[in-house]
Amino acid sequence: DSRVQQDGSEFLKLLLTLLETELAGSPQAALVQRLYRGQYSFITTCQVCHQQSDSSSNTTPFYELELGVTGCAGLSASLAKLLSEEMLVDDNQYLCGKCKKKVDAVRQMKLRSLPPYLCFSLMRFVFDMKTLSKVKVHDKFKFPLQLDLGGFVDEEACADGATTAYELSTVLIHRGSTASAGHYVARVLNESDGVWWEFNDEEVKRLGDLPHGGAPPTTSTSKAGEGSKGLTPQKRAASNGDQGAGREEPTEVSSKDAYMLVYRRASAVASRSDGGGRTTSNGAAVPQLDEELAEYVNNALKAQEQKETAYNEMVGEISAEIERRRSAVRSVFSAIAESSAEGGGVEPEELRFCDVQQLGEWVDASGFDAELNGDDG
Ligand SMILES: [Zn+2]
Repeated sequence: DSRVQQDGSEFLKLLLTLLETELAGSPQAALVQRLYRGQYSFITTCQVCHQQSDSSSNTTPFYELELGVTGCAGLSASLAKLLSEEMLVDDNQYLCGKCKKKVDAVRQMKLRSLPPYLCFSLMRFVFDMKTLSKVKVHDKFKFPLQLDLGGFVDEEACADGATTAYELSTVLIHRGSTASAGHYVARVLNESDGVWWEFNDEEVKRLGDLPHGGAPPTTSTSKAGEGSKGLTPQKRAASNGDQGAGREEPTEVSSKDAYMLVYRRASAVASRSDGGGRTTSNGAAVPQLDEELAEYVNNALKAQEQKETAYNEMVGEISAEIERRRSAVRSVFSAIAESSAEGGGVEPEELRFCDVQQLGEWVDASGFDAELNGDDG
């Protein structure tokens, strides 16, 4: 329902849940999990015996990670804070199973596995204790175009050979000054050709090679145009001594309005080529469908086609039956008309038609039949 104002993060949760429900039982039943679900654990370590809690090996699935904005310069700092050690002391002491008593402990969230598409929601809407209402945090938040999560993820998570290198693929921007209203705009990377697009309701705009509408990273002339509203490129310091020194490539973007970020695992990035792929009327490359998904869609289309064919056949049969009855009635009328023209007696207006089966039932129920067959005839 497009009239309902919805929170972007809440909407994503609803959409993914709905997709999971819809795909249940289909060959793509695990699609949402496969693309968006990661796992984390909370590790609690006793500071006396250094034993980890039993529940430390439990994993919890997640479809997005919530990052604090207040007091964090950007994604890396906020993620580090999310995964930082928390001391359980005083009233928060932990009951160690081995020590059999309450002890000081360290609690830490650990990422066990990362999905091909990693969603971050930025906690821009926070409850203000002074006004007792939700307010929007307008703090600037930086996030990189390329993100390596190697330092953040559990070593075992990399055991399956999946790379920890990610690239920014979607930025959801909340325009508006309050938490209760506003407008969402999405900046999305077309995976097949590396071009960013802005989706603003029915208005779709080509941004170029960067999400803020700047120039390609190979030049240093990126200029903030109309398309850059809400996002600002961050120049890499020229003196940081790495290979990019002096070239001022925008490797980070900052925003006061970015609300959700989606990063795509680098190994999931298909090789980009301009040849062979389909394009839309305005020249945008149409991304190739995942093979399994394409098969699922094709099968669904085929099933739909078969349903339509069966429906059309049924309509044809019913139409033929109606036509057959109509001509039967017409022939009765014309026979009556002929006989009355010959002076035979009944005017068509005096006739009443009724269903033969209903007439039979009425005759049976009335006992009329028995009377007719009675002895006195
Ligand atoms: Zn202990």
